[in-house]
Amino acid sequence: MLKLVVLSGAGVSAESGIPTFRDAGGLWEGHDVMEVASPQGWQKNPELVLDFYNKRRAAAAAAKPNEGHLALASLEEDFDVTVITQNIDNLHEQAGSSNVIHLHGLLSQARSSIDENMIYDIGTKDINLGDLCKKGSQLRPNIVWFGEMVPMIEKAAKISEQADIFIVVGTSLAVYPAASLIDYVPYTSKIYVVDPNMPYIKDKHNIKLVNAKATTGLKEIAVELKANYH
Ligand code: NAD
Repeated sequence: MLKLVVLSGAGVSAESGIPTFRDAGGLWEGHDVMEVASPQGWQKNPELVLDFYNKRRAAAAAAKPNEGHLALASLEEDFDVTVITQNIDNLHEQAGSSNVIHLHGLLSQARSSIDENMIYDIGTKDINLGDLCKKGSQLRPNIVWFGEMVPMIEKAAKISEQADIFIVVGTSLAVYPAASLIDYVPYTSKIYVVDPNMPYIKDKHNIKLVNAKATTGLKEIAVELKANYH
């Protein structure tokens, strides 16, 4: 089976009703990202940060996977698929994708603020001030904030190196190191980029730009791949 790797971003969930942040001029639901998605923001106002992610968690819990997520899941019938996502919702899993790497963490997990290995599944529950880990420190969302290490990046890079086909969808390719994964894809592999507002991509061999929303673009690609590589 050919190895198909997907790099997804906020745009794949936009049609499920979860807003991206570049489209809102760099604000995330009205907030400067450094206020709500950085260690400095957390230090300054943990209550605001917890409240922000509690709202994002509730919104994600109410959302349903869209036809784009479903098209990617359907590719598992014909390909060995790994989805590398920058998204913190779990709509890829809900759609049926079975190998999903969350580069930037998950809304449905909390973690200790002193030990990054102490992770708790919280589902759709809020995290409040005073909720503590077993070592007695405040729980925080298990989200990789700006300026923090991305623990899954090495694994994601190794997987990208193995891609026969690489699909980039719904990402501005503005957040590093996630954006650099496209550089690990072998020269001979086919790359698709799906976005209604194409991100800048260095001159690449064997690339197809699909200027469309995730739902239409990914359905189109799934049909093409199943016909050509089956
Ligand atoms: P981004 O907001 O920087 O870029 C979104 C991209 O999606 C843009 O290129 C835009 O043109 C495209 N887009 C918009 N509507 C689309 C659609 N219907 N179909 C396809 N593409 C569409 O997103 P990013 O590159 O993922 O970086 C944002 C960061 O913010 C990530 O680290 C992520 O963790 C976080 N974030 C996550 C979510 C989520 O989990 N759903 C939502 C907002 C932000």
